[in-house]
Amino acid sequence: MTSALESPACRQDQHSWRATDNHVVQFYEDSAFLSDVVVQFLDAGFHVGEPAVIIATEPHRASFAQRLKARGTDVERACAEGRLVLLDARQTLNRFMVKGMPDWHQFKSAIGPVLEQSHRGAQGARVRAYGEMVDLLWKDGNAQAALLLEAQWNDLAKEHLFSLLCAYSMGNFRTQEDARAFQAVCAAHTHVVPTEQYSRAESESARLREVSILQQRAQALEAEIEHRRRVELELLESMKLRDDFLSVAGHELKTPLTVLQFQFHTLLGMAQERRDERMKEKLVRARRQAERLTQLADELLDAVHISAGRLTLRLEACDLSALVSEVLERSSSAVAQAQCQLHLSLEEHVRGMWDRLRLMQVVTNLLSNALKYGAGSPIEVKACASTNGARLSVRDSGIGIPPKDQTRIFERFERAVSSQNHGGLGLGLWISRQIVEAHGGVIRVESEPGNGATFTVELPYAHVNSD
Ligand code: ADP
Repeated sequence: MTSALESPACRQDQHSWRATDNHVVQFYEDSAFLSDVVVQFLDAGFHVGEPAVIIATEPHRASFAQRLKARGTDVERACAEGRLVLLDARQTLNRFMVKGMPDWHQFKSAIGPVLEQSHRGAQGARVRAYGEMVDLLWKDGNAQAALLLEAQWNDLAKEHLFSLLCAYSMGNFRTQEDARAFQAVCAAHTHVVPTEQYSRAESESARLREVSILQQRAQALEAEIEHRRRVELELLESMKLRDDFLSVAGHELKTPLTVLQFQFHTLLGMAQERRDERMKEKLVRARRQAERLTQLADELLDAVHISAGRLTLRLEACDLSALVSEVLERSSSAVAQAQCQLHLSLEEHVRGMWDRLRLMQVVTNLLSNALKYGAGSPIEVKACASTNGARLSVRDSGIGIPPKDQTRIFERFERAVSSQNHGGLGLGLWISRQIVEAHGGVIRVESEPGNGATFTVELPYAHVNSD
């Protein structure tokens, strides 16, 4: 196994040696491997009379001590005699961190005397130091401080005789953005030792093979990233094209529909004047279809609008039950047509600061879904106050929703029914969710296939948008 211990600089002559030209970094995946490397590093030092200073986390210190004992070192005695100093990484770090950065003078006075004492106690032998404070800083997300601390260790080596082994978990460098930081860490050390995958290779030829495999993998990953970046751009472009198309189509549909609605209105008036009941009935039916088309065009336009991040709420004091009643009144003919019996439970004074029109849109969506998917069966609408806000629920006894679809249906264009049986764009629930969430609320469904569905909206009385 090649490790930090066997790096060329560690084998240099003790007298010409300085930590500035032997500051080793060992990368690791697994703590057990790290323990092996550190213990080998320390043990080799003990054999030639070099004392050790360990600045590590508690679990790592325990693991090193256990392994040293297994190799025959009397750890307690070594500590008592000052040949081994064990310090806690976090506590030591706290001694010299000032406003999130290591302070050079405080660092020097925290570490310098410890090194000096070990050095003197060992009749002037160099000290083997192992530290994890940089790794801790890195894990804290403070890469800048870690790099500064590395530089300060290098400066400290100009004043004290010690060899320094640092260790970084490879898990610290998982993303593309970490690449530059990784290079900076490597640059701060004189010797870089790769993780166990490389280090455990048994021969030089196996190591070279490992390097070649890694190089190929890096190339393949680079190419893959580039490919994905291109696909992502194409995807964004086609999503934009789709939204542009939907927006144009929505607007183009709305103009003739408005004219059509007006014509129906005029024709209905004429049929009424002539008392032509058959004509009136046909016109009412045709008008309903035009209204349905208008509603679909509005839904499309609204979805494009919200997707572009243009959902702004006009908050005002409103009463949830009053708002629900208004929607129910407007929907009375749709309720009658679906032959659903309505059961209402609307508590009085459920008041909050909400966007009235947008909440009416949510209620309308939930009600029209209940009518569409639960036609012919009773519907229960409830509005009440709860501890943290208002609660609205719409329950039907219709076809229900399979558990696997219950999350998906709140996404854009997602449906859990075939369009042959039930028409729709799959936008109503998505729009409702956007509205509810913009109020700081949540919307959820409970359902069993064949046993209806209950949609519940929880709304805080007032919501301060943190964006
Ligand atoms: P649409 O109804 O136009 O398809 P929605 O976004 O309102 O779009 O609903 C998404 C899907 O959720 C519907 O296609 C349907 O599969 C399911 N769904 C919504 N409400 C109900 C309900 N009350 N009962 C059964 N399924 C429902």
